[in-house]
Amino acid sequence: MNAISTGAPPFSEPHVAPNQLAYIQDVLETGRLDGNGRYTEQATAFLRGVTGAHSILLTPSCTHALEMSALALDLEPGDEVVVPAFSYAPTASAFALRGARLVYADCHPDTLNVRADHIEAAVTERTKAIAVLHYAGVPCDMAPILAVAERHGLSVVEDSAQALGSTYRGRPAGGFGRFGALSFHATKNVHCAKGGALLVNDPEDVERARTIQDRGTDRHRLFQGLVKEYQWVDLGSSYMLNELSAALLAAQLETFDQVQARRHRYWRAYDEELADWAGRHGVKTPHVPPGTTHSAHVYYLVLPTEEARDALLDHLASRQVTATVHYRALHDSPAGRRFGRIAPHGCQVAAALPRRLARLPLHSGMTPEYQRRVIDAVMSFTP
Ligand SMILES: *Cc1c(COP(=O)(O)O)cnc(C)c1O
Repeated sequence: MNAISTGAPPFSEPHVAPNQLAYIQDVLETGRLDGNGRYTEQATAFLRGVTGAHSILLTPSCTHALEMSALALDLEPGDEVVVPAFSYAPTASAFALRGARLVYADCHPDTLNVRADHIEAAVTERTKAIAVLHYAGVPCDMAPILAVAERHGLSVVEDSAQALGSTYRGRPAGGFGRFGALSFHATKNVHCAKGGALLVNDPEDVERARTIQDRGTDRHRLFQGLVKEYQWVDLGSSYMLNELSAALLAAQLETFDQVQARRHRYWRAYDEELADWAGRHGVKTPHVPPGTTHSAHVYYLVLPTEEARDALLDHLASRQVTATVHYRALHDSPAGRRFGRIAPHGCQVAAALPRRLARLPLHSGMTPEYQRRVIDAVMSFTP
């Protein structure tokens, strides 16, 4: 199953931006190598524009940004964090690393995004925070989730790894919670090989976040001229992105609008061309709720059964098309069972749907001819 047959193109290829080599060379020749140089400034200025976040700290990955948020929340052993049952491991492990107990909430069958009513049912007097994932870059229904957080005095962390450029009721994803986390891993729409960002939406968290980012020291205050020497003041780690990666990121972000336009064209072509076939065969395609825009990060199909999904992947592989699965739900994973429990309403949707899900190729370097081949190959399959 899911083998990459010889001759099939890779599932995804990292985006290439025209200025990336020149910017990296510039850093090597003239710049500060360790981070917080002019390309970090260029990238964060752009990202502030897209996300509306108060402050943005570039990190070595989205996983590290989520870990920073967990440190900033001052979680203690025994505290609980409600996390989406359907998400990638870092959305949960960042909090388990602080000793928190995870409680898995189920997702909506139409978007695979976590449900506010299931989150609320999971809240106890030990709950400190809610983590959400905007799956495939389609934003969660944030209004009821924020209302739950407000009612119970909880912080919200948004895993926006897939949602750069997505909006909910006109406002950018990543800007709703106390913290948001972006990923610039090579598989994301724009990337810096490996990298991420912490979005800090509350000005009161900025100072602390900078300390956590710089090994728990107040070195950032030295650079601002606020102290004459720096010292260890808090828990932290080495969470700053190096400037070579920031240069790559700055070059990639210059092409963000073109990347998004291209990905949206491919995404829409899948959606339009596969609609009849999907309807005839009981295959679910992505749902984008009214009032939201998405990032065209993933185009997926949910087949009627797991066997049909596996058969589709084999069928596509035999036609030199590389499609693939996505992650399985956290609550029925080995570590998920060790570090958390299922919320009172159960996790039926998250248990079933990811096993039936297949992702189709979608990246900025793809050709229309290849997409034609993918669409024809999918439509020649009968679940
Ligand atoms: C890609 C991804 C991550 C991890 O990103 P890294 O930058 O590789 O740490 C986390 N969460 C989700 C939902 C992702 O898609």
